[in-house]
This record gives sequence, structure tokens and C-alpha cells, in this order.
Amino acid sequence: MKVRIFEVFTSVEGEGILYGTKTLFVRLAGCPFGCFYCDTLEALPADSGTEYSLEDAMALVDDSLQKNTFKVNFTGGDPLMQHEAVAEMARHVQSRGVATYLESSCFDSERFAHVLPHLDYAKIEFKTPDSEFVDLGGHSAAHRSALECLRNAGRAGTTTYVKVVVSRRTSPQYVGALADEVFGAVPEGVVSGFVIQPTYGIEEPSLEALMEMYDAVYPVYDGVRIVPQMHKYIGAP
Ligand code: SF4
Repeated sequence: MKVRIFEVFTSVEGEGILYGTKTLFVRLAGCPFGCFYCDTLEALPADSGTEYSLEDAMALVDDSLQKNTFKVNFTGGDPLMQHEAVAEMARHVQSRGVATYLESSCFDSERFAHVLPHLDYAKIEFKTPDSEFVDLGGHSAAHRSALECLRNAGRAGTTTYVKVVVSRRTSPQYVGALADEVFGAVPEGVVSGFVIQPTYGIEEPSLEALMEMYDAVYPVYDGVRIVPQMHKYIGAP
């Protein structure tokens, strides 16, 4: 089996519920989408990065693991583009006693289910229709898939949180409705966080709008958090 990896590096996790943890990032090549705020454009082509045999990719991860690394974050692009290789790599990382984490828009619930048994943490990103992620018809299918992934993660007992990237185009009503849908889809306790992440450097939402989004979610889930990409504020990759 082959896998295309764009880059492997250690940094500080700057997003989500595990921000601040020392993390080895494995950025897989390839994403079929095109969010207008994407900050990893170079990794979107499926032929970007370098092709490795699975054995060499695992050796690369082993050699890159620094002491006190909290987790290995499989990111992209979208790592589900290469779900079989990610599952094998995640299994290998767990066998070394290091936690695994998947960062995905979860566009394909079958691919997600393949990786899920080898995950300690999952971040399921719900894309807003205004992200230009995909055409609006495609958005509803991707949205249903993300919800199905969330249900699967809940059944598996994987620590899972939801992220939504918001810009000045995003309405607080949309974010509130998303929270209603998310927390209506799974039993209480399945979701370990609901993170509102503002875009950085492009069409940033106002603080007032962010607070309105927070207020729209809070009645449904008081664990809601507004978390910007904090690594960008300390110059971390
Ligand atoms: S899904 Fe993620 S990697 Fe793909 S275009 Fe959107 S932001 Fe970029």
C-alpha cells in the first residue's frame, strides 16, 4: 500500500479541545474540496507531497516522534482521501502507546468507519454552506455524512468534538440550528465539545457576531467555546 504525505512536523495543537498539546502532525495529501478560507492549499492536490510505502511512512512517523508527544494528528487536505493508509498508520501509532486524532470534514461515513477503531480522538467538522466547500447540493450530502460519522463515533465511544469554521458570511442562526441538529442526533455525553472557530486573515467575523453564535448554541450546549487557531498567534506551523 502507498500513501502520499505532504509533510510531517511537530508543533503545538492550536485548534479545538486539545489546544496546547505537543502534537505530531501528519498532513496527508489530497482534498476534493475548496473552502475559500483554506490555509493548506498546497496540500489539496492528490499528487502533492511525497509518495511512501506504508512501511516507510510508519518509519517516518517513528523517527519524527519526539518525547512527550501527546498525540499524532492525521490531518490534510482531508485524511479520509487515503483512509486505508490512515487506518494502518493510526493502528501503528496506538501500538506505540501514543494517542491518535483524526481531523476531517467526514465527507464519507464508510471511510470514517474504517479508521474509527484506531482513533482515540475525532474532530468532525461541519462545513457551512457559505464556505464554498462544495456546491449546495453536495453540501447536504456531506452534512448528512458528517452526522452519520458523529453517530458512529458515539457508538464507538471515541472522544469526539464538533468544529464549525465561521466567517463574516455565516449567520448565528445557522450555527444555532446546527447545534440543534448535532445534539438532537446523538445521546447526551457523546459530543465532547462544540468549537466555533473564526476564519483567520480572511473575511473574519466580528466579535459581536461570534458572541451571537455562542449565544445561539449555549442554550443547547453550555460547553460551546469560541477558539481561534491559536498556533497562528505564536508563529507555530
Ligand atoms: S476541507 Fe479542509 S483541506 Fe479541504 S479545502 Fe476545506 S479547509 Fe482546505
